[in-house]
Amino acid sequence: MKSHARVVVIGGGVVGCSVLYHLTKLGWSDVMLIERSALTSGSTWHAAGGFHTLNADTNMAALQGYTIRLYKELEELTGMSCGLHHVGGLTLATTPERMDFLKAERAKHRYMGLDTEIVGPEEIKNLSPITNLDGVLGALYDPLDGHLDPSGTTHAYAKAAKMAGAEIILQNPVQELNPQPDGSWEVVTKEGTVIAEHVVNAGGLWAREVGEMAGVYMPLHPMEHQYLVTEDTPEVYELDRELPHVMDPEGESYLRQEGRGICIGFYEQACDAWAERGTPWDFGHELLNNKLDRIGDSLEFAFNRFPVLEKAGIKTVINGPFTFAPDGNPLVGPVPGLQNYWSACGVMAGFSQGGGVGLVLAEWMIEGEPSRDVFAMDVARFGDWITPGYTRAKVRENYQRRFSVSYPNEELPVARPHQTTPAYGIWKEQRAVFGASYGMEAANYFAKQGEPLRETPSFRRSNAFEAVADECYTVREAVGINEVHNFGKYLVTGKGARAWLDMIMAGRIPKPGRLALNPMLSPKGRLIGDFTVSCIHENEFMVTASFGMQAAHMRWFQVHLPKDETVSIENISTTRVGFQIAGKKARELLARVAFDDVSAEKFKFLDIREMDVGTCRALIQRVSYTGDLGYEIYVKIEDQIALYEILKNAGADLGLKPFGMRAMMSLRLEKSFGSWGREFRPDYTPMETGMDRFVSYKKESEFIGKAAAIAEQSKGVQRKLCTFIVEAEDADVWGDEPIWYNNDVVGFVTSGGYAHYSKKSVAYGFLPTDLISAGREVEIEILGKRRRAKMFVEVLFDPNGERMLG
Ligand SMILES: Cc1cc2nc3c(=O)[nH]c(=O)nc-3n(C[C@H](O)[C@H](O)[C@H](O)COP(=O)(O)OP(=O)(O)OC[C@H]3O[C@@H](n4cnc5c(N)ncnc54)[C@H](O)[C@@H]3O)c2cc1C
Repeated sequence: MKSHARVVVIGGGVVGCSVLYHLTKLGWSDVMLIERSALTSGSTWHAAGGFHTLNADTNMAALQGYTIRLYKELEELTGMSCGLHHVGGLTLATTPERMDFLKAERAKHRYMGLDTEIVGPEEIKNLSPITNLDGVLGALYDPLDGHLDPSGTTHAYAKAAKMAGAEIILQNPVQELNPQPDGSWEVVTKEGTVIAEHVVNAGGLWAREVGEMAGVYMPLHPMEHQYLVTEDTPEVYELDRELPHVMDPEGESYLRQEGRGICIGFYEQACDAWAERGTPWDFGHELLNNKLDRIGDSLEFAFNRFPVLEKAGIKTVINGPFTFAPDGNPLVGPVPGLQNYWSACGVMAGFSQGGGVGLVLAEWMIEGEPSRDVFAMDVARFGDWITPGYTRAKVRENYQRRFSVSYPNEELPVARPHQTTPAYGIWKEQRAVFGASYGMEAANYFAKQGEPLRETPSFRRSNAFEAVADECYTVREAVGINEVHNFGKYLVTGKGARAWLDMIMAGRIPKPGRLALNPMLSPKGRLIGDFTVSCIHENEFMVTASFGMQAAHMRWFQVHLPKDETVSIENISTTRVGFQIAGKKARELLARVAFDDVSAEKFKFLDIREMDVGTCRALIQRVSYTGDLGYEIYVKIEDQIALYEILKNAGADLGLKPFGMRAMMSLRLEKSFGSWGREFRPDYTPMETGMDRFVSYKKESEFIGKAAAIAEQSKGVQRKLCTFIVEAEDADVWGDEPIWYNNDVVGFVTSGGYAHYSKKSVAYGFLPTDLISAGREVEIEILGKRRRAKMFVEVLFDPNGERMLG
């Protein structure tokens, strides 16, 4: 074993081997993998080996497509067999909601280049004659689905990596990880010590323990999982071809042919978490005891759906553990707070996702950033607010929901509330229906009397529609109040603060008393942040952005902070809270309670002031995402209730009422404002999204991404973000719908919804630049139906900005 390596990958399951292979594929050969036992000694050896592309996140689905296509390449490269069976797969729909979901997925696949199709009962019967079609409305057919040999595939990755120079050490547990002053790691193993520039935690079932070695908590938990293999079954082996996979979400089962019999697995409701206090080091090639009673109901359901199962004897039962993150997606990337420590764990579908995880991680390590937006699997999507108890509860929920329809407006109930502000109780009294983001509760809308305190999960307009409409009217015609707690907020101070912000942000850094919108770019010129930079004093700035990006943003900031300590940065997201007041009468309300002159002349759009409001010391910015006259009023957390009472009492006769996130997202549509994670994300660039108007191409600072941004400016772009009015009926766009022109898919939707005050269904989406012209008519596919849509350029509300700027 050598004593130095550029990278040590810990763990020789399918994920670790894929990471190793991709590091070599992208050019790093001084890499080694250290495995405790033999390759595949964790979850990998007992996997059912199924693979599929279906994933609610588009980029995850694309990476699953990449993984599946990679197997042929691996076979050719190594001469080894992955045991591939590309038999295709059917996901059944037995409810109209599931059918909606599958149609929406199918629509997304059109521009992702995945050849899925919706099939009816007759085609299902032809493809899978063993399926009882009672109650089946249709299915999504994916020709890429199939299964493989888990061990053969893992060894093929390993061989391909070795062929390119990687070293693999077996039977050698990593026992300690000690950070070195230069950022490298001392990797202490049973057989000796290696100094590694980077370490990758691909510890699978032991990823929590490998995290603890570096002092971090990896938010994942193992669950038990069972599948059965039947004896040989004539209905199967007498067929002249292999059966496709059948996913039956209603029965929470997946089924495929295994040799001459059938393999069926279940994601049952009565599920069991495993190894709650940690994974034993001596666990390895043994299985867990069968727990057939746990899947009794599921089996009964399966006997009805696949009657051959009842006659076929059970040959084998496999009960094994594998790990999940709280939302079911992998945990990938640089672990916040550590140098050169990378995560490649929490991969619950190693044979669908392992290739994509390996590729993304290798790109991130070698090229400095992944080639697409991978926030859905970024380990930084969970911050230090997460606890093992939260993880365990959410992992269980996720396991039980493995086959549930994911609705775009759905809020999952388990482990809620996790974090709240003092105002939580105030909203609750007013019938708030809450959502949660990054662990924090925020009011989505306020249910009308007699309406349930729950939004019906749906792809169509929900029961919240009327309530949200009323809240939008409150803002536009009187004044609305909402919290500002769910922005990520950072205090940047010190004599180097301005220069540092000028380097990290692509836009203009404002003078004291002013704020400016600022994109943050990666070195390749992609959007990695969308900030408001407010200059409170020359050496004191408040920087605000998306709440869910806190750990990711802090990770980026810390890497780029100057070593001379002239700048310090503090995450104040949950300590500086407050309210925004927005709408026609917002100034009138503020004037009643503020100690300073807030007239239009004295307190202009994009001004920021420290000012007393009633009895509270506040920081007020004149800006509002509603696109209306509005103010964000920030106070210390202990002053929040006092501030609310002051505003409430002063605003009662002005018609002050609360509005929630749903209304805010509707109001922004009337101003064509984009939002982070939808219109603005690392998949897009400033010029593509119109963010170029906030990039200071001419500023002196060599800001990160400047060269790429300038290059883009001179080269131009091939697509641009546009706004459309859609002739929708009862369903608006959510995101990812294809845009059709002349019977071709030419673009896709980023987000949209119903603009209540303007009474228009709005969509944002990309069109090729040569198609862009005001009034261009296209079609947008919503739930399987193409809807006429027209591009427009003038914003729907306050086109001259009189309200917002006046
Ligand atoms: C019953 C069952 C059925 C499944 N079916 C499917 C399926 O059909 N399709 C699918 O895609 N997925 C399936 N899975 C999930 C799949 O098995 C996992 O997604 C995958 O195996 C995860 O691989 P991994 O490399 O992350 O982890 P693991 O396979 O757990 O590998 C981790 C490795 O790290 C090593 N290690 C840990 N700590 C150390 C240390 N300190 N030093 C050195 N080495 C260390 C371990 O020995 C182990 O070999 C199934 C899982 C189960 C349990």
